[in-house]
Amino acid sequence: MTEPTGRPAPLSAPHAMPAEDCLELLGTSLAGLDGAEAERRLKEWGPNALPEPSPPHPFIRFLRQFHNPLIYVLLASSLVTALLAHWVDTAVILAVVLINAIIGFIQEGRAENALAAIRAMLSPRASVLRDGRRLSVPAEELVPGDIVILEPGDRVPADIRLLEAHALKVQEAILTGESVAVEKRTEPVPADAPLGDRASMAFSGTLVVAGSGRGVVVATGTQTEIGRISGMLEEVRELSTPLVAQMDRFARWLTALILIVAALLLAWGYFVGHMPFGELFMAVVSLTVAAIPEGLPPVLTITLAIGVRRMAERHAIVRRLPAIETIGAVSVICTDKTGTLTRNEMTVRAIALASGRHEVTGEGYAPHGEIVPPADARELAPLVEVAALCNDAALSDVAGEWQVEGDPMEGALLAFAGKTDIDTTGWRRIDEIPFDAAHRFMAVLVENADGARRILVKGAPEVMLAMCSDELAGGARRPLRRAAWEAEAERLAAGGHRVLALAVGETHAAHLARDHLDGHLALVGLVGLIDPPRAEAIEAVAVCRRAGIDVKMITGDHAGTAVAIARQIGLARPDRVMTGAEIATMGEAELAVAVREADVFARTSPEHKLRLVAALQSHGLTVAMTGDGVNDAPALKRADVGIAMGKRGSEAAKEAADLVLTDDNFASIAAAVREGRTVFDNLRKVISWILPTSAGEAATVGAALLLGLALPVSPVQILWVNLITAVTLGLALAFEPTEPGTMLRPPRPRNAPLLTGALVWHVVFVTALFLAAVFGVFSYASDRGYPLAVGQTMAMNMLVVLEIFHLFFIRNIHGTSLSWRAFRGTRPLWLSLAVIVPAQFLVTYAPPAQAVLGTAGISLFDGLLVIALGMAFFVILEVEKQLRLSLAGRPEATAEAGAP
Ligand code: ATP
Repeated sequence: MTEPTGRPAPLSAPHAMPAEDCLELLGTSLAGLDGAEAERRLKEWGPNALPEPSPPHPFIRFLRQFHNPLIYVLLASSLVTALLAHWVDTAVILAVVLINAIIGFIQEGRAENALAAIRAMLSPRASVLRDGRRLSVPAEELVPGDIVILEPGDRVPADIRLLEAHALKVQEAILTGESVAVEKRTEPVPADAPLGDRASMAFSGTLVVAGSGRGVVVATGTQTEIGRISGMLEEVRELSTPLVAQMDRFARWLTALILIVAALLLAWGYFVGHMPFGELFMAVVSLTVAAIPEGLPPVLTITLAIGVRRMAERHAIVRRLPAIETIGAVSVICTDKTGTLTRNEMTVRAIALASGRHEVTGEGYAPHGEIVPPADARELAPLVEVAALCNDAALSDVAGEWQVEGDPMEGALLAFAGKTDIDTTGWRRIDEIPFDAAHRFMAVLVENADGARRILVKGAPEVMLAMCSDELAGGARRPLRRAAWEAEAERLAAGGHRVLALAVGETHAAHLARDHLDGHLALVGLVGLIDPPRAEAIEAVAVCRRAGIDVKMITGDHAGTAVAIARQIGLARPDRVMTGAEIATMGEAELAVAVREADVFARTSPEHKLRLVAALQSHGLTVAMTGDGVNDAPALKRADVGIAMGKRGSEAAKEAADLVLTDDNFASIAAAVREGRTVFDNLRKVISWILPTSAGEAATVGAALLLGLALPVSPVQILWVNLITAVTLGLALAFEPTEPGTMLRPPRPRNAPLLTGALVWHVVFVTALFLAAVFGVFSYASDRGYPLAVGQTMAMNMLVVLEIFHLFFIRNIHGTSLSWRAFRGTRPLWLSLAVIVPAQFLVTYAPPAQAVLGTAGISLFDGLLVIALGMAFFVILEVEKQLRLSLAGRPEATAEAGAP
């Protein structure tokens, strides 16, 4: 290992010291630092972060804009025109190149800033003890001496000397390359132990895969082991997706094709048409510049960046850019229940003791409320002890509002305990088996001042009933009435309660093992908690269903509870439940059939999620899957769109996900799908506008050359049109809002290509109309005996007008363009018109511009004629679209326009 640069870590070889010595040397205690001290140390030691790789210099970024085959062609052309002493043409070509580069530079910078801001929103947090209270703080603010709590799925936020470790397993591949998780202990190890054998340490950047632990921070930031080898964590984020990469390749090959055609035309014009070389060369260059869709790659990238930003505004952070394309195609969303469909604001509403059922009153997490009818204290006391002590959460009163740190369900249990007058303060935890979604219980071993020990356990009723042999009734043990408790649990679940069973056991052992539980526990009662559905989730589920997306609930909760919530949320078939136990007995083929029948999956474990994703994908469906635990990572990776919960989710789940929801809310998934569909539509719109525009401009010159006609638009004018319209108008499409009815359409098929037959037809059709209009106007002018300059000016303006009308048409590829909404446009659209229209007036009427571009003023009547032709072009396109859509059986083409 290389020696650290800069200052040394506060302790040397903490792994070889007794844990208590570390606490002492770091001037801290088991209760953690106090806030003021933490702040002082943060100033002393600096933030717990690794230095960011510095971004490329702006000048380098600017130069990179020129690194593009399309631009090379333009630069080479300008060189030739300069050699031919066509100074105006050279200047115009260079202006095209420069303006493209400037716009690309600015937009790329904005896109990158947007992504950087989004990355910052995903910065990790850590659970620490400060002043004896559990707090969640940004991992950057950790300081040496902080006491950190580690749970499954956490990325270890700093180098930590462990003080407690309960079946703690950490995967250290990032440091040691070893992918098998290692078990951690608290005993010191030899000072010269290699990194992988330092079992008393948890190192920054490694991943907690199981168990729980607590430790003191001994090094932060660059002083950590990972900091010493930093640089390897550098994350590259490409501003590209498969479709954009595909278009990039397409643009390159198209350029090659255009160059070949241009060379052939040059030969044809020179040898067959016997045209003077200088003039001919300029015409071919202008054709080449016009035909090359140089605006395409940057505008597509900008479209994506805008999509990323819009999703972030709707609380969905895109972690991997390609997902932005996939999310719009999602056809099934598998979502968990707690916190996504429900509010994750738990309240204990009912308890069941051996003597009967009681209601619990009170709202929120405030420890105020009553148990009605009042319960026998001898039965209530053990229930409250388990609720309060087999618990990792903390409640705090923040300005009159009670809040939970930790699991909301455990917070609710604390609030419930606070509503009784039973004192649970005399017990101290000496060991624990942490909760794990795979075994669904949590157990602690506690001891009081007299040395008496007790096991306290809580968990899912089936799991707990299997561990109990007895029950407590009136304070005494008696044989368990299994059937009666099962029936009670069913009743509570059917009422929408989340049910927990609580049990106690005795032991003299100093450690807790599974053997102490199985068959030795006594049930003390059941607790029923409610967690109301989110109102927005109900609405969002309805939106998804209208959009042809299946919503399936996959929960660890009891089937009865799951069904009750599924009904409230409005799932399509809330009563079709499949349990994890059923999934476990099925083969892949059987599961593939069954998965389509059920909408609710209860008592599932994380590995079932993986099988469910695969089963759904086997039908060609595009699957989105949510997850929050460390064990959800494989399913999130396997899903087409893996979605992690930003608040509740573990770091492991977030890292595996494509999308992270900052508010953990199902409604944000629906919003992301809508934005995803919009982005895909806008990519298509950009392509559908730019390709025919380039083709139309090029065909005008090409046709004239081939047929040996006078050029209707002069080379320098073509260059001008290309310069002024390519980036401005095309760019406006990147900002297009969602079309009405977007969430009424069924999902697009998986892997639907961008370049469809319909698009090719559109390019051909529009090119033909461009040719007809431009040549039409030009021959009208010659028939009238206008000078060549006037004819060419009319034809050039015709091109621009056609492009503008084409833009208005393209804005609505699914609905009609004949609506107020379609004409109202967007701000970016009117902004680009505000540039183009005055510019066209200028080149048409201002004498200096006329001198450069060889234009001449045109009469009002002829100007109106050009605009009228543009309108006719628009109407023809619209009629053709409606014909095509109605033949394709898409009646919503018009119906949609009125939809919200
Ligand atoms: P979802 O997957 O929709 O978020 P869930 O939160 O109910 O559902 P899990 O967290 O896997 O899923 O919990 C499964 C079951 O384990 C719960 O129904 C409950 O019975 C039990 N359980 C959950 N949390 C704890 C805990 N902290 N201690 C003991 N048992 C728990």
